[in-house]
Amino acid sequence: MWEKDLILKTLPRLESDMCVDTLIIGGGIAGLTTLYYLRDESSVFLVDAGVIGKGVTKNTTGKLTYLQNTIYSDLTNNIHYDTAVSYLKSQKKAIELAKDIITKEKIDCHLERVDSYVFALNKKEEKKLRQESEFLESQSIEVKEGNLPLKVPYIASISVQDTYVFNPIKYLNHLKKMLKDKIFEFTKITKIKRIGSKYVCYSGDVKIVASKVIVTCHYPFFFLPFCLPLKSHIEKSYIIARKVKNNPKFSCINVDNPSISVRYYEDEKGIYQICLACSHKTSKEQNDEENFKRVKRIFNISQDDIVTCWSNVDIVTDDKMPYIGEVKPHLFLATGFNTWGMTNGILSGFMLSNMVLENPVPFEDLFTLKRSDFYQVKNFFPNLLNSVVAFIGSKKREKEWYENRLVITKKNGKSIAIYKDTKGIEHIVYTTCPHMGCSLVFNEKELTWDCPCHSSRFTIDGECIKGPSTKDIKYKE
Ligand SMILES: Cc1cc2nc3c(=O)[nH]c(=O)nc-3n(C[C@H](O)[C@H](O)[C@H](O)COP(=O)(O)OP(=O)(O)OC[C@H]3O[C@@H](n4cnc5c(N)ncnc54)[C@H](O)[C@@H]3O)c2cc1C
Repeated sequence: MWEKDLILKTLPRLESDMCVDTLIIGGGIAGLTTLYYLRDESSVFLVDAGVIGKGVTKNTTGKLTYLQNTIYSDLTNNIHYDTAVSYLKSQKKAIELAKDIITKEKIDCHLERVDSYVFALNKKEEKKLRQESEFLESQSIEVKEGNLPLKVPYIASISVQDTYVFNPIKYLNHLKKMLKDKIFEFTKITKIKRIGSKYVCYSGDVKIVASKVIVTCHYPFFFLPFCLPLKSHIEKSYIIARKVKNNPKFSCINVDNPSISVRYYEDEKGIYQICLACSHKTSKEQNDEENFKRVKRIFNISQDDIVTCWSNVDIVTDDKMPYIGEVKPHLFLATGFNTWGMTNGILSGFMLSNMVLENPVPFEDLFTLKRSDFYQVKNFFPNLLNSVVAFIGSKKREKEWYENRLVITKKNGKSIAIYKDTKGIEHIVYTTCPHMGCSLVFNEKELTWDCPCHSSRFTIDGECIKGPSTKDIKYKE
């Protein structure tokens, strides 16, 4: 959707060893915004495994809003009222930062001010909505009730002003052009090793020695330190864009999962309604075809109206807040944006750059990677169970699912899949994810192999296109 009228010029890969002060790994919204804030430092570089803007940010719905389901009542109930207040301040700060960058750099990314709505579909959701409204009013935010301009069977809604939508890929592409001398594409980091006071980052035959490393690759490709799988789960949603006649200038989302969300996008060629639904934990269900049919039913979309459709995954943390901070001395990380990575990605850029420059860092304690409160301890075992269920489920699915669609068999004791495309060409891959051994699920819609546990993705020919896996699953005779 976002790149339909863009010509994305690629940048060269890193061909020889390099010594730098700061290396940023991953050029999505978090990494590129970090590079933007560090642009005046002489020895700061960013590497991306593929092409900038082809990661999760490519598939977002691009809302820049502080009204995020009922996050403030969730934080108040599960952690503390003060945490909710700080989180609200952080999201408002992120919107200001986004506006400042877009205005200062004159980025043509269709930034548009819209009203944000949250709506309740049942009594339980309505109760949470009331609490959310009370919280926002206690923070002197004007909240309006009712009048959701969308045909869904809602029973209550609230809305706030001063929130935005934009085209995230035009934003990234502008920064990429501006900072091109500091970026290497097609440079995947597969290992980081601490040697003395430096970090050595390996990419094939090439090494980058850095004093400071910032990891912004969505899902960190290392398990230790940090153990993200035990602090989070992966959530997937399905999105359809259709052409419409009017832009009512609002965005909306319901209170709980499965999400129903809408925004509009207007460019020179027309107005599009972007409809999202059916979000679920990837450990639970992976029938993409059925989920796209459900999205069509929910929004009453006919096949002829569809401009494009896609799915996306994001990392959801136990306490619904991102992790932004130092994981080891001079090794920094930003991840777990809970499907709100436009605000949290831009905020990460601001925070991480200030950490590297040893400036005061707002919200450092709120998002620290070292936080572990009762809420997280409580979720440790459910998360472990979720990982085990995802792992076993993926193994079971391998046997049950594809009998008629593709062949899964064993070669030299390893499970392989043979997929025949419409031209009769066979595409053969190993079906086990190299990251932690989960069985991959075939995504028939986008013709990829997806990990239901930690969100790695591979092409039908086995090339790894999304981490945390750093290895391919190409079949070798
Ligand atoms: C359905 C859906 C809708 C969403 N809508 C919204 C929304 O409306 N508003 C909002 O605020 N958020 C939204 N989000 C969340 C948002 O899209 C993400 O949180 C955000 O895009 C993540 O950005 P990122 O920079 O962390 O990751 P990415 O954009 O994935 O960038 C990571 C980059 O790192 C690179 N990389 C990975 N591994 C390596 C490696 N080993 N070496 C080098 N490079 C590497 C990748 O190639 C990639 O370019 C949505 C999420 C979903 C699932």
